[in-house]
This record gives sequence, structure tokens and C-alpha cells, in this order.
Amino acid sequence: MKRIGVIGGVHGDEPLGVAVAREVGGIQANPRAMRHKVRFTETDLNRSFLVQIPISYEERLATRLERVIRRGHYDCIVDLHTTRAHNSTCAIVTTEPNAVHRHIMHHMGLKKIVIMPPSHALISVKPDVSLALEISHGDRTYTKSYLVNRLRTLTIPSSRNTNRETIEIYRCVQHVHKKTIQRLRIPLRSFKNFVQLSVPQKKKLGLHSDTDYYPLFTKGVTIADGAFTLLAAEKKGS
Ligand SMILES: [Zn+2]
Repeated sequence: MKRIGVIGGVHGDEPLGVAVAREVGGIQANPRAMRHKVRFTETDLNRSFLVQIPISYEERLATRLERVIRRGHYDCIVDLHTTRAHNSTCAIVTTEPNAVHRHIMHHMGLKKIVIMPPSHALISVKPDVSLALEISHGDRTYTKSYLVNRLRTLTIPSSRNTNRETIEIYRCVQHVHKKTIQRLRIPLRSFKNFVQLSVPQKKKLGLHSDTDYYPLFTKGVTIADGAFTLLAAEKKGS
């Protein structure tokens, strides 16, 4: 039997994932944050998994969710998110994209995938079968009905039909703080998500001039801890 885990509401202020997860019988991750319409109540749930000593409300919640995820023996896990960054709907993984990731991407019509370093995110619990979907706010393709339909018809990839479709792979190499950008006097609006940095931008940031960098999630992102606004990444298609 196929076991597909759909998770919504890891961030309580992202109602699309909540609605989709409800529709497909998925997991509502953080009902307390959802009730208060906030991203999280004590610590960001998507930075609260796999901690040594769970103390905050979300860290303890993550421990319970982790157990649910492990006991579920899922073949695929899709964690639904939305971002206020424009034109950047993409998949996020914390390991090299494998056949499962490629299968989900093909089925969901996704072209871009970002490899993040291993972290305390939900997808880090079972990285080989997990993918986070970061849907751009106002994306006309990834509507609730489209997502419900795609997730309902999602199957498990067999070893025979490995998808070899070309996808754009971005690797996160650095988080750049908004304050750094301001200090270096680079206009934030000059960065476009998934569009290669210009030579002057690279120079100002002190990046290797012969390496390609692509900003990710730069626009309108309000992370409570101010941890990152811009990610520079290397792209390779395969
Ligand atoms: Zn989110």
C-alpha cells in the first residue's frame, strides 16, 4: 500500500497548506499557531526538529510529530509551505535529489529544487523521502484545487520508472542577512529570485566572481528572527 504523508501548517500563518492537508487527510502540524494566525508561538517549528533537549512548545510538538512521521513509514512526505517571495515556487530538500524527489517533482509539475544544508526542519526527519513545497504567494498554478488533485493522485515511484526529466538544481551555499545587504548598500530590490547575480553584486558581496550565484526568497520575506533574507546558491541542471 502506498503511504503518502501530507503536512500543512508547520507555519501557522500559511493557510493554503492547512486547507490542502485538511482536504487530503493530512497532518495539521501546529494547530496552536494556526489558531493565532502566527508563524509559530515560541520557536519556529521548522527549526525545532531533531533537537537534543526539546524545551519550547514547538520543540516538544516537533518531538511528537517526529514520532508520528517515523511510525507512519511513509513512502513520500510532502510538507506544504507558502512564501511571500514572488516567482519562486520550488521544492526544497536537505539531501541530493533522488528518484523519490524527482518523481514528486514531475507529478507536481515542479522544475526548481533547492538543496538546503541538513537542518532542524521537518524534512530532515526522513530526508530521503521528504520534500517541502514552497509555493509562491499568488502563484496561479499552485492553487488549492490543483494541489489537492495532484496529491490525491500521487503514487510511489517504482525503481523501473525513474524520472530523468531535467530539473534545475540550486544548492544553498550561504545565508546572507538583510542587515549585511543594507550595510553594503546594495538595494534589496535589485535581487531577483532565481536570477543570476550580476558581476557588481557579486563584487560588493565579496563572492567568487567566476561562480554563479542565484538569490532565493529575497522579497517580502519576514523571518521573525531575521536570520536570512537572501540565499546565494549554485545552479546546475541535470
Ligand atoms: Zn512555511
